[in-house]
Amino acid sequence: MSGKGMKRLRRNIVGALTALSLVLCLGSMLMWVRSYWVQDSVRWNNRQGKETTIGSSRGKLGIGSFTALTAENKSASRPFYKRDKPSDLDWSTIRAAQVNRTFPGGRYLSRKEKGFEGRGLLLSFPLIVALTGLAPGILAGVHARRRMIHGRRVRLSRCADCGYDLRATPERCPECGAIPAKAEA
Ligand SMILES: [Zn+2]
Repeated sequence: MSGKGMKRLRRNIVGALTALSLVLCLGSMLMWVRSYWVQDSVRWNNRQGKETTIGSSRGKLGIGSFTALTAENKSASRPFYKRDKPSDLDWSTIRAAQVNRTFPGGRYLSRKEKGFEGRGLLLSFPLIVALTGLAPGILAGVHARRRMIHGRRVRLSRCADCGYDLRATPERCPECGAIPAKAEA
């Protein structure tokens, strides 16, 4: 693959990942707002009687996995969706945890004893929105800056790509070979 093709491929991959990140960011914003009216959760049991749940409530997203506590929860099940009133998602079953680590924007809990094993990760939506919004934000900033530099160069009759003075050669940049948009039209 040529250097140029490689560069384009890399730019496409970065673009796709950034777009995905933006979608996740916007989705998290919606979930963040929604989480104050509705608690959404999806849960399922695996064959070992472990229950896994992913839920959003009161500004937080939680992912937890526990030893099923009731007999009816011990059989394997497909994921099912449940809608509740918002709660604190504090997982009282593992709150009496041996590990209870708080970090900016989140908390990790785990508890292991005879007959019970559970762990959970709570992340605040502001943290998720900030993390997923980082790449799109940087890319938008880079683009805005590039547009600003190009605009200023064009106003000063310089090459938009390399900044070379084009007053003597307005139809083609002698430095980098770029054809100014004005000359193209
Ligand atoms: Zn140039």
